[in-house]
Amino acid sequence: MDDERKDVGSLWNRVVSQVKMLLPTEMERNRTERYFPLMHSPRLENDEFVIAVNEQIQVEMFTDLYAQLIREALHADGIEVKSVRFVVEKKPEEETAPAPVQRIKPAVAKTASYSQNEHPLITSTMPMHENYTFHNFVVGPSNSFAHAAATAVAKNPGETSYNPLFIYGGTGLGKTHLMEAIGHFVVSKMPKKSVCYITSETFLNEYINAIQNKTIAAFRERYRKVDLLLLDDVQFIADKFNVQEEFFNTFNSLMGLRKQVVMTSDVAPKDLKGCEERLIGRFQQGMVVEIESPSYETRLAILKFKMAARQHIIPDEILKFIAENIRSHVRAIEGALNRVLTFVDLNQNLPLTLEITQHLLKDSIAEEKVIKDLTVDEIMRTVSIFYGVKIEDILSPCRTQTLVTPRQVAMFLSCKLTTKSLPEIGRSFDKSHATVHHGAQTIQKRLDVESDLKKSVEEIVSRLGRKFSDLS
Ligand code: ADP
Ligand code: MG
Repeated sequence: MDDERKDVGSLWNRVVSQVKMLLPTEMERNRTERYFPLMHSPRLENDEFVIAVNEQIQVEMFTDLYAQLIREALHADGIEVKSVRFVVEKKPEEETAPAPVQRIKPAVAKTASYSQNEHPLITSTMPMHENYTFHNFVVGPSNSFAHAAATAVAKNPGETSYNPLFIYGGTGLGKTHLMEAIGHFVVSKMPKKSVCYITSETFLNEYINAIQNKTIAAFRERYRKVDLLLLDDVQFIADKFNVQEEFFNTFNSLMGLRKQVVMTSDVAPKDLKGCEERLIGRFQQGMVVEIESPSYETRLAILKFKMAARQHIIPDEILKFIAENIRSHVRAIEGALNRVLTFVDLNQNLPLTLEITQHLLKDSIAEEKVIKDLTVDEIMRTVSIFYGVKIEDILSPCRTQTLVTPRQVAMFLSCKLTTKSLPEIGRSFDKSHATVHHGAQTIQKRLDVESDLKKSVEEIVSRLGRKFSDLS
């Protein structure tokens, strides 16, 4: 019994540190210092991982915040569970052991789920988030292209020219969600097809294990048998030569069999550091789509969608406030909403005002400001003063060179120094998003060769209170 207790105690400690690593922001990581000590008696019950807390509100809050992450952390430890469940239970009297533990079923080794002969169809090597479906994905200008490509692939995996499908964009913008939505769709509509979702990091770890255990043949066999391979965060293996080579072979073999491959990455294929040209070339042969930061309208739509699934009503002005102030990515928007909802839960009799919301979200808002808080207007103003041209002229369609350069510099800086999406910036300039994209790229290229232009941009950037290095 003592050994078992120690086992789960140390498993729990590992899970806690793994969850922290999975959290994207400092604030979320700090929050675990307050929340995790409220959990007790972690244990495995059949195929569930159960954690006790003292209050019902904590059950809801922690389920939202941590259930899925804990499941991922357990997976990383080689333990597969169907779900992670929080229950209300009184904390037992303090014991000396770090985490008092009850009966524990032997952990299921990760490799057990791959007994190929019994299960010729691998549905998934890693659990997918249940709610990352197309139905739960809000479409807006920032992701509509990626969404269209993803649905096309999901309906006809391996049959479209979108093979591989390469989805890239900043963190928290919905890449994993969209990729898993393809997985869920195929699993539910085409039960004969085998689907494998895996992060590059796990792929790498399994590859290393396979080499150590001399099971590389089985490893290869496993991946080359799937109909749909979803490889998440490919940038992680792009600079690791051996595993890159291994993946390349798997990839080629799947392509040869007309199986579907979908990848995500935080950068475009051409910007994958350390990745071989031939691999980049292959990645670009199918369809490359970007997910951008959501516009204000999409942020608000996401908030409204997430609210519809909950039992609460939050006044529109509060949702608008969140959408206006939390701009960087969807994960941050969800975090802000959860915070507000937790407050509402805990203070049923207190009306939620803008002032309270502002207070509740002050950390997240401060974090957003640190990253970027310049507006397109500020940038336009500074550029127009620097070049001595009028803002109306920057906004006009006139294409004389004395106006084109300031206009494109302002576009370039708006892309680099604000969280606005291309379509939003386009609207501010009265131009299409393609024009903004072209303008920004033109300046980017000219900066490499024109030292005068570089000096000007450096000066403008410093007038905006930023450093030139912020532009990279
Ligand atoms: P990434 O993989 O790009 O870092 P995720 O796919 O993990 O981002 O998304 C972060 C969070 O935001 C997830 O909870 C996801 O469900 C949510 N999310 C992202 N985009 C959308 C969207 N368009 N509609 C609804 N939820 C979204
Ligand atoms: Mg992701």
